[in-house]
Amino acid sequence: MKLIFATNNHNKIEEIKQFIGDSFQLITLREAGIFTDIPEPHNSLEKNASEKSSAIYRMTNTSCFGEDTGLEVTTLNGEPGAKSARYAGDERSFEKNMDKLLDQLKNTSDRTAQFKTVISLILEGKEFLFTGICKGKITREKKGPNGFGYDPIFVPDGSEKTFGEMTLKEKGEFSHRTKATMKLVAFLTNN
Ligand code: IMP
Repeated sequence: MKLIFATNNHNKIEEIKQFIGDSFQLITLREAGIFTDIPEPHNSLEKNASEKSSAIYRMTNTSCFGEDTGLEVTTLNGEPGAKSARYAGDERSFEKNMDKLLDQLKNTSDRTAQFKTVISLILEGKEFLFTGICKGKITREKKGPNGFGYDPIFVPDGSEKTFGEMTLKEKGEFSHRTKATMKLVAFLTNN
């Protein structure tokens, strides 16, 4: 079965490919010949994920999924959340976003946060949503060269390392994206 993954983020593609298995042929936007940047205009992860999958479904008429992920920090009432990519401005700089978050939390002892991924699947015209959450803590400094986004400042519960210090496989054992992907795969396997 062919499935288009509505993203241009190669880190997300690598993470999801680990778990999608051989039963599905994952096609990236580039492989589908689509080079547009799909907008994320909403304040909710669910709506942004739907926006991505429905935009690609309209263009291709092929089953596809999109995902949106946000980092929700307890003491910031869930911010940056759906605004995670542009937290420090429209240039979407990972470094500036992390610097801003560390600065916001510099006098805060409650470091708890969670990553939340929402996947929107459109299968033969019908939409299905899958969610994955990874709870953890924001560090006081950046650690590790791996991953992307906020990975160097997030330690998942059950580990001493930041996602930035983990291999792709190690991150996959904890990650929000893995949990949402496993639900997607289970659904697709049974339908
Ligand atoms: P997106 O809108 O789903 O692409 O993600 C919004 C932002 O959240 C990205 O630009 C990253 O900064 C951050 N993000 C998403 N997923 C992850 C992750 O797995 N680790 C670290 N940061 C992430």
